[in-house]
Amino acid sequence: MSAWIAAQAAGDWLPPDLEARYRARVRPRRDALIRLWLLLVASVNVLCIPVDAMNLEDHLGTILVARLVFGAGILLGVRALLGRPRPDWLVALGVIAATLTITLVTGFLGHLRSTEVGLTYDLSAPFAVFSALIWLPVGVRTAAAMLVLNQAAFGLLIWRLDVALTTKLSILIYYPAVMLAATVMHRFVEITRRADFLRDLLGAAQQRELAEANLRLEEHVRRDPLTGLGNRRAFEEALRAARDPEDAGFGGDLAVLILDVDHFKLYNDLYGHQGGDACLRAVAECLSAEVRAPVRLARYGGEEFVLVAPGLGPHEAGRLRERLRAAVEAAAIPHAAHALGRVTISVGFAADGPGGRLTGRELTERADLALYAAKRAGRNLCRGYEPPAAGPLPRAA
Ligand code: GH3
Ligand code: MG
Ligand code: MG
Repeated sequence: MSAWIAAQAAGDWLPPDLEARYRARVRPRRDALIRLWLLLVASVNVLCIPVDAMNLEDHLGTILVARLVFGAGILLGVRALLGRPRPDWLVALGVIAATLTITLVTGFLGHLRSTEVGLTYDLSAPFAVFSALIWLPVGVRTAAAMLVLNQAAFGLLIWRLDVALTTKLSILIYYPAVMLAATVMHRFVEITRRADFLRDLLGAAQQRELAEANLRLEEHVRRDPLTGLGNRRAFEEALRAARDPEDAGFGGDLAVLILDVDHFKLYNDLYGHQGGDACLRAVAECLSAEVRAPVRLARYGGEEFVLVAPGLGPHEAGRLRERLRAAVEAAAIPHAAHALGRVTISVGFAADGPGGRLTGRELTERADLALYAAKRAGRNLCRGYEPPAAGPLPRAA
């Protein structure tokens, strides 16, 4: 993978979509750097005025016009233009124009007087393009255009000097070599930036994959594989959440329902374990169709299902349990060993009012007792928890 990163980063361009993302990422920093660079170059240009005054005493007016109006003016104008996010081509044009301005202004001033001054100025002219190449994160094409245009201007300046041909040639060979070194450095820094970008991207993708895998795992441990419903863990968590004193949303009303398939052992005996599984899936589908959030349905285990119904008082919970029972009966899943000839469920439920004195566990125990009452009363029935007339709570069998 790191070889792939190196190969990609070493290429001139990344694949188009990555290239676009890379540019979007470096753009704000690049623009800030370019603005700062323009300001610095403009300042150096103005600071050169005393030096100009020493070297070119009799051209003070020209110096001021060239340095202030043309040089600093253009640089600060470009800076103002790039003050807001601009298209890449405009930014590139701005940087190229700025380097060329400085090369030409410096060369022009140097050539006003003696060959000696001209040579000194010409040799200092490329400082702007040199600093731009090292410092600015511009693309390879911008760097190349900057280099070629400035070299052409520089070559013209040197060529016009009244010095020996060998001196001209030496300068014209030496300077491009220095610029080439700066370009190689620019390329190297650019490759490092792209490699960092790709590495970050890869890291973020791995993090995302890991987070997704964790999420899937989290879901997996709360899901019943047979019916696709939540499992007992999901039920217990929903119950805890519904009884969370921090969660004031449901006003304290809470109902717990336990639903148990009647004579399911007989069903299994008759239709086999596979048939029993299919029956459980069909019952789960039936129940799911009747349940809406925030009521949560889960498979408790075996042929038992549970509902946590936050916000449902005894009245609404009573209607819901009856709807659930009737839905399973209406589904008419054949059960030849059942007196009714179809699959039915019994429902036990317990509800707690706004005071919310009962814990989730107590509510579940009461719903369980109510379920046994429904079974005893003949099945295919719903029963709510009835407190015992006297004495301690009877225990579930
Ligand atoms: P009741 O009406 O009193 O509830 O009687 P029942 O036969 O439904 O209850 P019992 O507890 O006697 O039997 C439950 C059966 O459910 C026994 C067990 O083999 C079966 N069972 C439990 N889990 C599964 C399962 O995942 N798939 C299948 N096919 N059967 C299961
Ligand atoms: Mg049971
Ligand atoms: Mg049963």
